[in-house]
Amino acid sequence: MNTDIYDVAIIGLGPAGVTAAIYAGRKRLKAIIIGESIGGQSVVSRKIENWIGIPELSGAEMAMRLYDHLDIVKDHVKIVDSPKVSLIEEASFGGKPAFQVFYGENQVFAATVLIASGSRRRKLGVPGEDEYSGRGAYYCSICDAPLMQDKDAAVVGGGNAGLEAVSDLVAYARKVYLLELMDELKADQATRAKVLAGRKVELILNAKTREIKGRSEVQSLTYEDTKTGTMKELGVQGVFIQIGSEPNSELAKGLVKLDACGQIIVDPISQQASRPGVWAAGDVTQIPYKQNNIAMGDAAKAILDINNYLLRQ
Ligand SMILES: Cc1cc2nc3c(=O)[nH]c(=O)nc-3n(C[C@H](O)[C@H](O)[C@H](O)COP(=O)(O)OP(=O)(O)OC[C@H]3O[C@@H](n4cnc5c(N)ncnc54)[C@H](O)[C@@H]3O)c2cc1C
Repeated sequence: MNTDIYDVAIIGLGPAGVTAAIYAGRKRLKAIIIGESIGGQSVVSRKIENWIGIPELSGAEMAMRLYDHLDIVKDHVKIVDSPKVSLIEEASFGGKPAFQVFYGENQVFAATVLIASGSRRRKLGVPGEDEYSGRGAYYCSICDAPLMQDKDAAVVGGGNAGLEAVSDLVAYARKVYLLELMDELKADQATRAKVLAGRKVELILNAKTREIKGRSEVQSLTYEDTKTGTMKELGVQGVFIQIGSEPNSELAKGLVKLDACGQIIVDPISQQASRPGVWAAGDVTQIPYKQNNIAMGDAAKAILDINNYLLRQ
């Protein structure tokens, strides 16, 4: 394969990136896909039940299937799986506008770029969070709720994700505390009423989490009651942090417009970002409803639009 300049450089090996690579391969574009590890965020899921066409599969199985499908286009798409892309810069190649994509010690030139670098869970940033990550401090209730069998757990964050975590946990835990920073829950009314009706659930408002404590595993959570300023401690063996996610858009700063949350702003019809030659798809964009199927559909749209753009050049 001639690697002087690619038609498209795809960043990210999650559902969006892999879909883009498959579409690019089928369009016989000269493409490169660069990402950390295949599968993206839901790799950790025990069960995915909305992967259309397969009623139930685990995150690991989904990643395997993505890998197998990607393998089919490997003669057309160069797959680079491990280093992170650190920078994308506007450049020129053979007198034509291009982009220079830097990863690890390497760099490539591409006529267009599709950013599909997804998002990551937002952290609390309190003492003990990193220390006990995976040992009582968790970000995925779907994955880790079963570890709370007959234990006490706290969910931090009263949005819809927090309430979903409570629902996951009540099936296993003895007691579930739901801590919300504000004086009311952010989640919608219907979900709120349903989840809080459970006898095991205790809602604590005006609660600012200050520390996660333990020995080898989590033993308690300390929070400040922001109304009174008093510090309180809950004996829990699990803390489920559900305070949203952050886009992996650092590589796009200065290149394209981001919204106030750092998400790449795209045209929802074409997936084009603010700079000609750059597209984005999936959880890294401002498109609401962060889901595998949506990320994949948007990535397919993006490659079809890129293909048309290249034909017009
Ligand atoms: C625990 C959990 C369970 C979920 N369950 C479901 C579900 O059941 N059904 C559903 O539809 N959705 C589910 N989702 C949401 C779904 O996972 C996302 O919507 C989907 O993964 C978005 O795909 P993406 O390709 O845009 O991003 P991601 O999946 O985030 O993939 C992005 C990839 O890019 C890589 N990357 C990041 N930065 C760089 C960089 N600088 N250079 C190179 N690579 C980079 C990342 O490591 C990652 O591999 C779940 C999410 C989580 C967290």
